Amino acid sequence: MRRKLVVGNWKMHGNRASNAELLAGILGARPFACDVGVCVPFVYVADTAVSLATSEIRWGAQDVSAQEQGAFTGEVSAAMLRELGCRYAIVGHSERRAHHAEGDQLVADKAKAALGHGLTPIVCVGETLEQREAGQTEVVVKRQLSAVIHALGHCAGEMVVAYEPVWAIGTGRTATPEQAQAVHAVLRAQLRAATSQADTMKILYGGSVKPDNAARLFAQADIDGGLIGGAALKASDFVTICRAAG
Ligand code: PEP
Repeated sequence: MRRKLVVGNWKMHGNRASNAELLAGILGARPFACDVGVCVPFVYVADTAVSLATSEIRWGAQDVSAQEQGAFTGEVSAAMLRELGCRYAIVGHSERRAHHAEGDQLVADKAKAALGHGLTPIVCVGETLEQREAGQTEVVVKRQLSAVIHALGHCAGEMVVAYEPVWAIGTGRTATPEQAQAVHAVLRAQLRAATSQADTMKILYGGSVKPDNAARLFAQADIDGGLIGGAALKASDFVTICRAAG
């Protein structure tokens, strides 16, 4: 039985005061029966590390550079994140693929850089509505995951995968549990072909997970928790989702 994982993706939200309040709300609701993490804006990683240091809640970033170090203005390296105690780095979020033109190879390189410094990459894959309607969902997510599997090689079993249909992110339109499970099963099969660790790996679902739909999604055989955007910004909602996972 895989232990579930729920990770909040705060995106570009918050300020020091609201973050402190949000984290206090999460900390006050412990213990959880699942693993819990928050991926915060880079500038708040240090504060978050202080707030969560003595808890079992983990923290991370929403992106990471594929580069080790050097003249890469604006980039943040995996080593820097690790130094601040990060456990996770989200890579390949659809907002970065769409707004920052990140392609499969760059996402794979970022996952490799993260893993190289002891961070667990949360690798996002997902199809657009157009691709789904054209029957391309499987091809798209397999292509996205394949690039990362190839880059990580024998370490592929160490990543967390997040299936996030683009049409469900921030739209209030959630994949049905059956739709999500079908894609998770495809991803699990792809992982099985690549690594003996596939059955212990976590595949998260992300896309308008809310307190009222989380339990049904998390009850699916291959859904091992969630990557939560909007609902991660309100402690009571996030906590309810974490409870649904445990
Ligand atoms: C996300 O950004 O990863 C996400 C899943 O967002 P939301 O929950 O708001 O759809």
